[in-house]
Amino acid sequence: MKLNELHVTNPYLKLPSVCYDRVTPTPLAEPYLIHANTDVAKVLDIDETELQTEAFVKFLNGEYLAEGSEPFAMCYAGHQFGYFVPRLGDGRAINIGTIDKYHLQLKGAGITEYSRHGDGRAVLRSSIREYLMSEAMHGLSIPTTLCLGLIGSEHDVRRDKIEKGAIVCRASSSWVRFGTFEYYAHQGKFKELAALADYVIEENFPHHSGKENRYTLLFNDVLIITARLIAQWMSVGFNHGVMNTDNMSIAGLTIDYGPYAFLDDFRHENVCNQTDVEGRYSFANQPEIAKWNLKSLIMALSPLTDTDKMEKNLAMFDKIYIRYFHYYMCKKLGFEGTIEGDPELIDDMLDMLEQLHVDYTLFFRTLSHYEGDRKALLSTGLYHEPMNAWLDRYDARIKTIDTTERKEQMLSSNPKYVLKNYMLQEAIDAAEKGDFSVVDDLFQIAQNPFDEHPAFERWAEATPQEFKNKRLSCSS
Ligand code: AMP
Ligand code: MG
Ligand code: MG
Repeated sequence: MKLNELHVTNPYLKLPSVCYDRVTPTPLAEPYLIHANTDVAKVLDIDETELQTEAFVKFLNGEYLAEGSEPFAMCYAGHQFGYFVPRLGDGRAINIGTIDKYHLQLKGAGITEYSRHGDGRAVLRSSIREYLMSEAMHGLSIPTTLCLGLIGSEHDVRRDKIEKGAIVCRASSSWVRFGTFEYYAHQGKFKELAALADYVIEENFPHHSGKENRYTLLFNDVLIITARLIAQWMSVGFNHGVMNTDNMSIAGLTIDYGPYAFLDDFRHENVCNQTDVEGRYSFANQPEIAKWNLKSLIMALSPLTDTDKMEKNLAMFDKIYIRYFHYYMCKKLGFEGTIEGDPELIDDMLDMLEQLHVDYTLFFRTLSHYEGDRKALLSTGLYHEPMNAWLDRYDARIKTIDTTERKEQMLSSNPKYVLKNYMLQEAIDAAEKGDFSVVDDLFQIAQNPFDEHPAFERWAEATPQEFKNKRLSCSS
Protein backbone atom coordinates (compact mmCIF):
# COMPACT_ATOMS: atom_id res chain seq x y z
CA MET A 1 0.00 0.00 0.00
CA LYS A 2 1.09 3.58 -0.66
CA LEU A 3 1.39 5.83 2.38
CA ASN A 4 -1.42 8.01 1.11
CA GLU A 5 -3.67 4.94 0.93
CA LEU A 6 -2.88 3.97 4.51
CA HIS A 7 -5.80 4.04 6.90
CA VAL A 8 -5.22 3.76 10.64
CA THR A 9 -7.53 3.32 13.61
CA ASN A 10 -7.17 4.50 17.21
CA PRO A 11 -8.68 1.81 19.44
CA TYR A 12 -7.09 3.19 22.62
CA LEU A 13 -9.22 6.30 22.30
CA LYS A 14 -12.27 4.21 23.18
CA LEU A 15 -10.97 4.25 26.75
CA PRO A 16 -11.97 7.01 29.19
CA SER A 17 -10.24 10.27 28.30
CA VAL A 18 -8.17 10.35 31.51
CA CYS A 19 -6.16 7.51 29.94
CA TYR A 20 -4.59 9.70 27.27
CA ASP A 21 -4.13 13.18 25.97
CA ARG A 22 -4.46 14.22 22.36
CA VAL A 23 -1.36 15.89 21.04
CA THR A 24 0.07 16.79 17.67
CA PRO A 25 3.67 15.74 16.94
CA THR A 26 6.24 18.54 16.69
CA PRO A 27 8.41 17.66 13.68
CA LEU A 28 12.20 17.78 13.76
CA ALA A 29 14.09 20.27 11.60
CA GLU A 30 15.68 18.94 8.39
CA PRO A 31 14.81 15.29 8.88
CA TYR A 32 16.43 12.53 6.84
CA LEU A 33 16.04 8.78 6.67
CA ILE A 34 18.67 6.67 8.40
CA HIS A 35 17.07 3.26 8.10
CA ALA A 36 13.78 1.65 7.18
CA ASN A 37 12.72 -1.80 8.30
CA THR A 38 11.32 -3.56 5.23
CA ASP A 39 10.09 -6.56 7.26
CA VAL A 40 8.02 -4.39 9.56
CA ALA A 41 6.78 -2.40 6.58
CA LYS A 42 5.61 -5.65 5.00
CA VAL A 43 3.72 -6.63 8.14
CA LEU A 44 2.04 -3.21 8.07
CA ASP A 45 1.31 -3.64 4.36
CA ILE A 46 3.34 -0.56 3.39
CA ASP A 47 4.95 -0.85 -0.06
CA GLU A 48 8.71 -1.23 0.03
CA THR A 49 9.08 1.48 -2.62
CA GLU A 50 7.43 3.95 -0.26
CA LEU A 51 10.27 3.60 2.23
CA GLN A 52 12.70 5.61 0.13
CA THR A 53 10.35 8.53 -0.43
CA GLU A 54 10.13 11.99 1.05
CA ALA A 55 6.62 11.06 2.19
CA PHE A 56 8.02 8.31 4.40
CA VAL A 57 10.41 10.75 6.11
CA LYS A 58 7.46 13.06 6.67
CA PHE A 59 5.48 10.15 8.08
CA LEU A 60 8.25 9.27 10.57
CA ASN A 61 8.63 12.94 11.43
CA GLY A 62 4.96 13.31 12.31
CA GLU A 63 4.52 15.85 9.51
CA TYR A 64 2.28 13.58 7.51
CA LEU A 65 -0.40 11.70 9.42
CA ALA A 66 -2.15 8.74 7.86
CA GLU A 67 -5.83 8.95 7.19
CA GLY A 68 -7.78 8.31 10.39
CA SER A 69 -4.92 9.22 12.68
CA GLU A 70 -5.81 11.02 15.92
CA PRO A 71 -2.46 11.31 17.67
CA PHE A 72 -2.27 11.00 21.45
CA ALA A 73 0.04 10.29 24.37
CA MET A 74 -0.77 7.65 26.99
CA CYS A 75 -0.81 8.27 30.70
CA TYR A 76 0.81 5.93 33.23
CA ALA A 77 2.48 5.83 36.61
CA GLY A 78 5.26 3.57 37.78
CA HIS A 79 7.67 2.41 40.43
CA GLN A 80 11.07 3.82 39.53
CA PHE A 81 13.92 2.18 41.42
CA GLY A 82 11.37 0.99 43.96
CA TYR A 83 9.68 4.37 44.52
CA PHE A 84 6.20 5.13 43.30
CA VAL A 85 5.77 8.03 40.87
CA PRO A 86 2.04 8.70 40.50
CA ARG A 87 2.17 10.32 37.08
CA LEU A 88 4.58 9.61 34.25
CA GLY A 89 3.14 8.91 30.81
CA ASP A 90 4.44 9.21 27.28
CA GLY A 91 6.63 12.26 27.71
CA ARG A 92 8.14 11.96 24.26
CA ALA A 93 6.29 9.18 22.46
CA ILE A 94 3.21 10.00 20.42
CA ASN A 95 0.81 7.36 19.15
CA ILE A 96 -0.12 7.93 15.51
CA GLY A 97 -2.48 5.07 14.80
CA THR A 98 -3.04 1.34 14.62
CA ILE A 99 -2.60 -0.92 11.62
CA ASP A 100 -3.89 -4.44 12.08
CA LYS A 101 -2.72 -5.32 15.61
CA TYR A 102 0.23 -2.91 15.61
CA HIS A 103 0.09 0.43 17.38
CA LEU A 104 2.54 2.92 15.91
CA GLN A 105 4.41 5.44 18.01
CA LEU A 106 6.86 8.20 17.20
CA LYS A 107 9.45 8.38 19.98
CA GLY A 108 11.08 11.78 20.20
CA ALA A 109 8.28 13.64 18.40
CA GLY A 110 7.94 16.49 20.86
CA ILE A 111 6.38 17.60 24.09
CA THR A 112 3.20 16.05 25.44
CA GLU A 113 1.00 16.57 28.48
CA TYR A 114 3.32 14.14 30.27
CA SER A 115 6.71 15.60 29.40
CA ARG A 116 7.25 17.05 32.91
CA HIS A 117 10.67 18.76 32.69
CA GLY A 118 11.69 16.88 29.55
CA ASP A 119 11.97 18.28 26.05
CA GLY A 120 10.01 15.53 24.32
CA ARG A 121 13.04 14.61 22.26
CA ALA A 122 15.29 11.59 21.81
CA VAL A 123 18.90 11.95 20.70
CA LEU A 124 20.47 10.13 17.77
CA ARG A 125 22.57 7.76 19.86
CA SER A 126 19.68 6.46 21.98
CA SER A 127 17.43 6.19 18.94
CA ILE A 128 20.03 4.09 17.12
CA ARG A 129 20.27 1.87 20.19
CA GLU A 130 16.52 1.34 20.34
CA TYR A 131 16.19 0.83 16.60
CA LEU A 132 18.93 -1.79 16.35
CA MET A 133 18.26 -3.57 19.60
CA SER A 134 14.57 -4.15 19.04
CA GLU A 135 15.48 -5.77 15.72
CA ALA A 136 18.16 -7.85 17.43
CA MET A 137 15.70 -9.11 20.03
CA HIS A 138 13.26 -9.97 17.29
CA GLY A 139 16.05 -11.79 15.44
CA LEU A 140 16.69 -13.81 18.60
CA SER A 141 12.96 -14.67 18.79
CA ILE A 142 12.59 -12.80 22.07
CA PRO A 143 9.28 -10.93 22.42
CA THR A 144 9.85 -7.24 21.77
CA THR A 145 8.38 -4.05 20.39
CA LEU A 146 9.52 -3.39 16.82
CA CYS A 147 10.70 -0.38 14.82
CA LEU A 148 9.48 0.64 11.36
CA GLY A 149 12.09 3.28 10.73
CA LEU A 150 14.62 5.74 12.07
CA ILE A 151 15.17 9.35 11.06
CA GLY A 152 17.87 11.80 12.07
CA SER A 153 17.73 15.59 11.88
CA GLU A 154 19.57 18.87 12.28
CA HIS A 155 17.47 19.63 15.34
CA ASP A 156 19.61 20.59 18.33
CA VAL A 157 18.83 18.76 21.55
CA ARG A 158 20.51 19.66 24.83
CA ARG A 159 21.85 16.82 26.95
CA ASP A 160 25.32 16.92 28.59
CA LYS A 161 26.29 18.54 25.32
CA ILE A 162 24.30 19.62 22.28
CA GLU A 163 23.27 16.62 20.24
CA LYS A 164 20.95 16.00 17.29
CA GLY A 165 17.36 14.85 17.66
CA ALA A 166 16.07 11.67 16.05
CA ILE A 167 12.80 9.74 15.93
CA VAL A 168 12.15 6.04 15.89
CA CYS A 169 8.77 4.87 14.72
CA ARG A 170 7.95 1.97 17.01
CA ALA A 171 5.29 -0.68 16.47
CA SER A 172 3.83 -2.89 19.16
CA SER A 173 0.80 -5.04 19.87
CA SER A 174 0.54 -3.13 23.14
CA TRP A 175 2.04 -0.06 24.77
CA VAL A 176 0.28 -0.71 28.06
CA ARG A 177 2.65 -1.03 31.00
CA PHE A 178 2.25 -2.38 34.54
CA GLY A 179 2.42 1.31 35.45
CA THR A 180 -0.65 2.08 33.35
CA PHE A 181 -2.69 0.00 35.79
CA GLU A 182 -0.93 1.56 38.77
CA TYR A 183 -2.00 5.01 37.60
CA TYR A 184 -5.74 4.33 37.97
CA ALA A 185 -5.47 2.13 41.04
CA HIS A 186 -3.55 4.84 42.89
CA GLN A 187 -6.16 7.47 42.03
CA GLY A 188 -9.05 5.23 43.02
CA LYS A 189 -10.39 5.39 39.44
CA PHE A 190 -11.67 1.82 39.46
CA LYS A 191 -14.08 2.16 36.56
CA GLU A 192 -11.24 3.31 34.34
CA LEU A 193 -9.05 0.55 35.76
CA ALA A 194 -11.62 -2.06 34.75
CA ALA A 195 -12.01 -0.48 31.32
CA LEU A 196 -8.24 -0.67 30.83
CA ALA A 197 -8.11 -4.30 31.97
CA ASP A 198 -10.95 -5.20 29.62
CA TYR A 199 -9.23 -3.38 26.78
CA VAL A 200 -5.99 -5.27 27.39
CA ILE A 201 -7.84 -8.59 27.61
CA GLU A 202 -9.67 -7.95 24.37
CA GLU A 203 -6.50 -6.87 22.62
CA ASN A 204 -3.83 -9.25 23.92
CA PHE A 205 -5.63 -11.99 25.87
CA PRO A 206 -8.90 -12.45 23.92
CA HIS A 207 -9.25 -16.05 25.14
CA HIS A 208 -10.25 -14.60 28.56
CA SER A 209 -12.73 -12.13 27.14
CA GLY A 210 -16.09 -12.04 28.94
CA LYS A 211 -15.11 -14.58 31.62
CA GLU A 212 -16.18 -13.76 35.14
CA ASN A 213 -12.70 -14.29 36.64
CA ARG A 214 -10.96 -12.67 33.67
CA TYR A 215 -8.84 -10.27 35.74
CA THR A 216 -7.27 -13.10 37.71
CA LEU A 217 -6.72 -14.97 34.47
CA LEU A 218 -5.15 -11.86 32.98
CA PHE A 219 -2.74 -11.67 35.90
CA ASN A 220 -1.86 -15.36 35.56
CA ASP A 221 -1.06 -14.94 31.88
CA VAL A 222 1.04 -11.85 32.51
CA LEU A 223 2.89 -13.76 35.22
CA ILE A 224 3.70 -16.59 32.84
CA ILE A 225 4.75 -14.50 29.85
CA THR A 226 6.85 -12.26 32.08
CA ALA A 227 8.62 -15.25 33.65
CA ARG A 228 9.27 -16.62 30.17
CA LEU A 229 10.56 -13.29 28.87
CA ILE A 230 13.01 -12.90 31.75
CA ALA A 231 14.19 -16.49 31.27
CA GLN A 232 14.89 -15.65 27.63
CA TRP A 233 16.80 -12.51 28.62
CA MET A 234 18.85 -14.47 31.14
CA SER A 235 19.63 -17.27 28.69
CA VAL A 236 20.87 -14.88 26.04
CA GLY A 237 22.72 -12.63 28.51
CA PHE A 238 20.55 -9.51 28.21
CA ASN A 239 20.56 -6.94 30.99
CA HIS A 240 17.67 -4.48 30.56
CA GLY A 241 18.99 -1.93 33.03
CA VAL A 242 15.79 -0.05 33.95
CA MET A 243 13.14 -2.54 35.01
CA ASN A 244 10.83 0.09 36.47
CA THR A 245 7.16 -0.90 36.41
CA ASP A 246 6.55 1.71 33.71
CA ASN A 247 9.00 -0.22 31.53
CA MET A 248 7.23 -3.56 32.02
CA SER A 249 4.94 -4.50 29.16
CA ILE A 250 1.57 -6.02 30.02
CA ALA A 251 1.97 -8.09 26.83
CA GLY A 252 5.28 -9.61 27.98
CA LEU A 253 7.42 -7.72 25.48
CA THR A 254 10.86 -6.22 25.87
CA ILE A 255 10.06 -2.52 25.90
CA ASP A 256 11.86 0.83 26.29
CA TYR A 257 15.45 0.26 25.35
CA GLY A 258 17.72 2.46 27.45
CA PRO A 259 21.11 1.75 29.04
CA TYR A 260 20.79 -2.00 28.40
CA ALA A 261 23.68 -4.35 27.71
CA PHE A 262 24.46 -7.75 26.43
CA LEU A 263 26.96 -9.35 28.76
CA ASP A 264 30.53 -9.28 27.60
CA ASP A 265 32.30 -11.60 30.05
CA PHE A 266 29.74 -13.47 32.07
CA ARG A 267 29.10 -11.79 35.43
CA HIS A 268 26.13 -12.56 37.66
CA GLU A 269 26.23 -9.11 39.22
CA ASN A 270 26.63 -7.14 36.00
CA VAL A 271 25.14 -3.63 36.23
CA CYS A 272 24.76 -1.75 32.95
CA ASN A 273 22.98 1.38 34.15
CA GLN A 274 25.25 4.06 35.57
CA THR A 275 22.42 5.49 37.69
CA ASP A 276 21.84 2.14 39.36
CA VAL A 277 24.37 2.55 42.18
CA GLU A 278 22.84 -0.18 44.33
CA GLY A 279 22.65 -2.70 41.53
CA ARG A 280 18.89 -3.09 41.84
CA TYR A 281 18.67 -3.93 38.15
CA SER A 282 21.75 -6.10 37.94
CA PHE A 283 21.74 -9.06 35.59
CA ALA A 284 21.20 -11.64 38.32
CA ASN A 285 18.43 -9.60 39.99
CA GLN A 286 16.19 -9.53 36.93
CA PRO A 287 13.94 -12.48 37.89
CA GLU A 288 13.52 -11.14 41.43
CA ILE A 289 12.70 -7.66 40.11
CA ALA A 290 10.17 -9.09 37.68
CA LYS A 291 8.50 -10.75 40.67
CA TRP A 292 8.60 -7.47 42.61
CA ASN A 293 6.99 -5.72 39.64
CA LEU A 294 4.31 -8.39 39.38
CA LYS A 295 3.58 -7.78 43.06
CA SER A 296 3.00 -4.11 42.17
CA LEU A 297 0.67 -5.25 39.42
CA ILE A 298 -1.29 -7.30 41.97
CA MET A 299 -1.69 -4.18 44.10
CA ALA A 300 -2.93 -2.31 41.05
CA LEU A 301 -5.40 -5.06 40.07
CA SER A 302 -6.59 -5.69 43.61
CA PRO A 303 -9.68 -3.43 43.34
CA LEU A 304 -10.88 -5.67 40.50
CA THR A 305 -10.27 -9.16 41.75
CA ASP A 306 -9.28 -11.55 44.51
CA THR A 307 -5.83 -10.55 45.75
CA ASP A 308 -5.27 -13.87 47.58
CA LYS A 309 -5.59 -15.83 44.35
CA MET A 310 -3.10 -13.61 42.57
CA GLU A 311 -0.72 -13.80 45.53
CA LYS A 312 -0.94 -17.58 45.47
CA ASN A 313 -0.05 -17.57 41.80
CA LEU A 314 2.79 -15.15 42.34
CA ALA A 315 4.21 -17.60 44.86
CA MET A 316 4.67 -19.94 41.86
CA PHE A 317 6.81 -17.41 40.01
CA ASP A 318 10.18 -18.88 41.00
CA LYS A 319 9.12 -22.35 39.89
CA ILE A 320 7.73 -21.12 36.57
CA TYR A 321 10.73 -18.94 35.89
CA ILE A 322 13.30 -21.61 36.65
CA ARG A 323 11.51 -24.12 34.43
CA TYR A 324 11.69 -21.75 31.51
CA PHE A 325 15.27 -20.86 32.34
CA HIS A 326 16.33 -24.50 32.38
CA TYR A 327 14.40 -25.12 29.19
CA TYR A 328 16.25 -22.36 27.32
CA MET A 329 19.63 -23.21 28.84
CA CYS A 330 19.28 -26.90 28.03
CA LYS A 331 18.47 -25.95 24.46
CA LYS A 332 21.65 -23.88 24.35
CA LEU A 333 23.61 -26.80 25.72
CA GLY A 334 22.23 -29.14 23.07
CA PHE A 335 20.20 -31.33 25.43
CA GLU A 336 16.91 -32.86 24.34
CA GLY A 337 15.22 -31.94 27.61
CA THR A 338 16.06 -31.22 31.23
CA ILE A 339 17.05 -34.20 33.37
CA GLU A 340 18.33 -34.65 36.89
CA GLY A 341 21.69 -33.03 37.31
CA ASP A 342 21.18 -30.44 34.53
CA PRO A 343 20.38 -27.53 36.89
CA GLU A 344 23.66 -28.12 38.74
CA LEU A 345 25.54 -28.44 35.47
CA ILE A 346 24.10 -25.07 34.38
CA ASP A 347 24.80 -23.30 37.68
CA ASP A 348 28.34 -24.63 37.83
CA MET A 349 28.92 -23.62 34.22
CA LEU A 350 27.87 -20.03 34.94
CA ASP A 351 30.15 -19.89 37.99
CA MET A 352 32.98 -21.31 35.90
CA LEU A 353 32.41 -18.74 33.13
CA GLU A 354 32.50 -15.94 35.67
CA GLN A 355 35.61 -17.26 37.37
CA LEU A 356 37.46 -17.57 34.04
CA HIS A 357 36.20 -14.24 32.57
CA VAL A 358 34.70 -15.94 29.55
CA ASP A 359 32.74 -14.05 26.90
CA TYR A 360 29.22 -15.42 27.31
CA THR A 361 28.13 -15.38 23.65
CA LEU A 362 31.45 -16.66 22.34
CA PHE A 363 31.45 -19.56 24.79
CA PHE A 364 28.12 -20.94 23.64
CA ARG A 365 28.85 -20.47 19.98
CA THR A 366 32.19 -22.25 20.39
CA LEU A 367 30.53 -25.01 22.40
CA SER A 368 28.05 -25.42 19.54
CA HIS A 369 30.92 -26.64 17.34
CA TYR A 370 32.44 -28.84 20.05
CA GLU A 371 33.16 -32.44 19.16
CA GLY A 372 35.79 -33.36 21.72
CA ASP A 373 38.69 -31.07 20.79
CA ARG A 374 38.78 -28.55 23.62
CA LYS A 375 41.40 -26.15 22.32
CA ALA A 376 39.05 -23.45 21.03
CA LEU A 377 36.87 -23.61 24.12
CA LEU A 378 39.74 -23.49 26.57
CA SER A 379 41.15 -20.44 24.84
CA THR A 380 38.00 -18.47 25.73
CA GLY A 381 38.93 -18.52 29.44
CA LEU A 382 41.76 -17.41 31.67
CA TYR A 383 42.66 -20.87 33.04
CA HIS A 384 42.02 -24.36 31.78
CA GLU A 385 41.38 -26.55 34.79
CA PRO A 386 37.89 -25.39 35.84
CA MET A 387 36.68 -25.56 32.25
CA ASN A 388 38.25 -28.97 31.72
CA ALA A 389 36.49 -30.25 34.82
CA TRP A 390 33.18 -28.87 33.62
CA LEU A 391 33.68 -30.26 30.10
CA ASP A 392 34.27 -33.72 31.57
CA ARG A 393 30.77 -33.53 33.02
CA TYR A 394 29.41 -32.09 29.76
CA ASP A 395 30.99 -34.94 27.78
CA ALA A 396 29.24 -37.44 30.02
CA ARG A 397 25.92 -35.65 29.54
CA ILE A 398 26.07 -35.55 25.73
CA LYS A 399 27.41 -39.07 25.27
CA THR A 400 24.03 -40.44 24.22
CA ILE A 401 23.00 -37.44 22.10
CA ASP A 402 23.46 -37.55 18.32
CA THR A 403 26.27 -35.09 17.55
CA THR A 404 24.83 -33.76 14.29
CA GLU A 405 21.48 -33.11 15.86
CA ARG A 406 23.03 -31.54 18.93
CA LYS A 407 25.16 -29.19 16.86
CA GLU A 408 22.23 -28.23 14.69
CA GLN A 409 20.11 -27.40 17.75
CA MET A 410 22.94 -25.46 19.36
CA LEU A 411 23.82 -23.42 16.28
CA SER A 412 20.21 -22.29 16.05
CA SER A 413 19.99 -21.56 19.79
CA ASN A 414 23.32 -19.82 20.35
CA PRO A 415 23.66 -16.60 18.33
CA LYS A 416 26.98 -15.94 16.70
CA TYR A 417 26.27 -12.22 17.06
CA VAL A 418 24.66 -10.12 19.74
CA LEU A 419 24.74 -6.34 19.72
CA LYS A 420 27.21 -5.53 22.44
CA ASN A 421 27.54 -1.96 23.59
CA TYR A 422 30.94 -1.42 22.01
CA MET A 423 29.49 -2.38 18.62
CA LEU A 424 26.56 -0.02 19.03
CA GLN A 425 29.00 2.70 20.06
CA GLU A 426 30.90 2.14 16.83
CA ALA A 427 27.67 2.65 14.88
CA ILE A 428 26.87 5.76 16.93
CA ASP A 429 30.33 7.30 16.52
CA ALA A 430 30.13 6.86 12.76
CA ALA A 431 26.52 8.09 12.64
CA GLU A 432 27.38 11.25 14.53
CA LYS A 433 29.82 11.97 11.71
CA GLY A 434 27.13 11.31 9.11
CA ASP A 435 28.15 7.75 8.22
CA PHE A 436 25.31 5.26 8.69
CA SER A 437 27.03 2.24 7.17
CA VAL A 438 27.70 0.67 10.57
CA VAL A 439 24.01 0.99 11.44
CA ASP A 440 23.29 -0.91 8.21
CA ASP A 441 25.87 -3.58 9.07
CA LEU A 442 24.60 -4.08 12.60
CA PHE A 443 21.05 -4.25 11.32
CA GLN A 444 22.05 -7.16 9.10
CA ILE A 445 23.55 -9.20 11.90
CA ALA A 446 20.70 -8.21 14.23
CA GLN A 447 18.22 -9.71 11.77
CA ASN A 448 20.11 -12.96 11.34
CA PRO A 449 22.20 -13.49 14.47
CA PHE A 450 22.50 -17.26 14.03
CA ASP A 451 23.94 -17.03 10.52
CA GLU A 452 27.56 -16.72 9.52
CA HIS A 453 28.49 -13.23 8.28
CA PRO A 454 32.08 -13.52 7.04
CA ALA A 455 32.38 -9.75 6.57
CA PHE A 456 31.62 -9.18 10.25
CA GLU A 457 33.70 -11.93 11.80
CA ARG A 458 35.41 -9.56 14.25
CA TRP A 459 32.08 -8.84 15.95
CA ALA A 460 31.77 -12.51 16.83
CA GLU A 461 34.93 -12.40 18.89
CA ALA A 462 35.20 -11.66 22.59
CA THR A 463 34.65 -8.00 23.41
CA PRO A 464 37.95 -6.10 23.28
CA GLN A 465 39.30 -5.69 26.82
CA GLU A 466 39.04 -1.89 26.86
CA PHE A 467 35.30 -2.00 26.07
CA LYS A 468 34.20 -4.72 28.48
CA ASN A 469 31.40 -4.32 31.00
CA LYS A 470 30.98 -0.56 30.68
CA ARG A 471 28.04 1.21 32.30
CA LEU A 472 25.83 3.58 30.36
CA SER A 473 24.09 6.73 31.41
CA CYS A 474 20.29 6.97 31.36
CA SER A 475 20.42 10.35 29.57
CA SER A 476 18.87 9.78 26.20
P1 AMP B 1 12.39 6.13 30.39
O1 AMP B 1 13.49 6.22 31.39
O2 AMP B 1 12.81 6.42 28.99
O3 AMP B 1 11.61 4.86 30.52
O4 AMP B 1 11.39 7.34 30.73
C1 AMP B 1 10.80 7.53 31.98
C2 AMP B 1 9.77 8.62 31.88
O5 AMP B 1 10.41 9.85 31.54
C3 AMP B 1 8.71 8.40 30.83
O6 AMP B 1 7.52 8.93 31.33
C4 AMP B 1 9.22 9.19 29.65
O7 AMP B 1 8.20 9.58 28.78
C5 AMP B 1 9.86 10.38 30.33
N1 AMP B 1 10.94 10.99 29.52
C6 AMP B 1 12.19 10.50 29.31
N2 AMP B 1 12.90 11.34 28.53
C7 AMP B 1 12.10 12.38 28.24
C8 AMP B 1 12.26 13.58 27.48
N3 AMP B 1 13.41 13.89 26.86
N4 AMP B 1 11.20 14.43 27.39
C9 AMP B 1 10.04 14.15 28.01
N5 AMP B 1 9.84 13.04 28.75
C10 AMP B 1 10.84 12.16 28.88
MG1 MG C 1 -7.23 13.29 28.46
MG1 MG D 1 10.08 4.09 29.76
